[in-house]
Amino acid sequence: MKAEFIAVVNKLEEGRSLDKKEYRLLIESACDETFDFIREKAIKVRGKIYGRGVYIRGLIEISNICKNNCLYCGIRKDNGLCQRYRLSDEEILLCCKEGYDLGFRTFVLQGGEDPFFTDDRLCGIIGQIKSRFSNCAVTLSLGERSTESYERLFKAGADRYLLRHETADKSHYERLHPSDMSFENRIKCLYELKSIGYQVGCGFMVGSPYQNSDTLAADLKFIETFEPDMCGIGPFIPHRDTPFGEMPAGSVFLTCYLLSIIRLIKPNILLPATTALSTLDKNGREKGILSGANVVMPNLSPESVRGKYELYNGKAHSGAESAQLVKELCRSMEKIGHSVLTERGDIKK
Ligand code: SAM
Repeated sequence: MKAEFIAVVNKLEEGRSLDKKEYRLLIESACDETFDFIREKAIKVRGKIYGRGVYIRGLIEISNICKNNCLYCGIRKDNGLCQRYRLSDEEILLCCKEGYDLGFRTFVLQGGEDPFFTDDRLCGIIGQIKSRFSNCAVTLSLGERSTESYERLFKAGADRYLLRHETADKSHYERLHPSDMSFENRIKCLYELKSIGYQVGCGFMVGSPYQNSDTLAADLKFIETFEPDMCGIGPFIPHRDTPFGEMPAGSVFLTCYLLSIIRLIKPNILLPATTALSTLDKNGREKGILSGANVVMPNLSPESVRGKYELYNGKAHSGAESAQLVKELCRSMEKIGHSVLTERGDIKK
């Protein structure tokens, strides 16, 4: 390992901050040896705050109807082959009840930007979840909405909001999205969510088309300065019916390497080992946890719709990705010396 690499890692450990050039050096130095070096430090720092506990969140995919046309996404508006669905209020509440009985204390309502889910409708759903399951957290992941909407949903009881920034480089953002979507608005939404009081998550795909070490360095710098409570990163995986259908998938190795770096940037961050990681590698979840992640988000959506929320080809939704198989998940975590925690799992400040 080069002395320069070690010096930069030490600087990150001591000051939790690097300039973009230094982040680029870390990214360009990724190899088995540097990964082991960084991962060991990431695990140690996570252990001091969270021990070996792994938080679980029940993911409920409430709608795959979307008004947007993100070039990478299988549920984009123009994918005429996608079989559309949306869950009713009753179905969402049933998912929560099932999740509650399985031990989940956080429900993540995720979906495409479906205009059917107005503020009134969402406030009603959030209110019901909070009154029936008052010791649970509600996380929303419903894309870009107005300030007033974010405020109303927060007042109704939503605790957290996940909105991946997708890339912190404006020109890269513009190559991943159509011209009616804007980088500025994405970032504005993230800052608004934070100022309203949500615990906020950003994130990006690893290996998205046109990504390079410069754009990744910008992502890491953004995470450092934005200071999110959560950060979701997972490999890009192509979906055959999108403009990026022939693009190569991202790397599990680089995703894990970046998880370790992000843990070093913000030791208390909530970092999921994502479904995309498990989709590309049957041990992806375990690899993510062993790189510094501390959250997993199994699927609580009704079985009948799980295959339809197909963001990318082959998306995992069975085995330990399924919330019903939480025991399997517990066993797989125990095998790697970790334990599943059934609590709300807020960020430790
Ligand atoms: N509509 C909401 C939003 O925009 O935040 C939430 C749903 S969106 C489908 C959730 C995330 O899926 C996106 O932020 C994106 O990073 C990820 N995603 C979409 N297509 C993907 C693909 N082909 N490979 C990996 N991840 C993908």
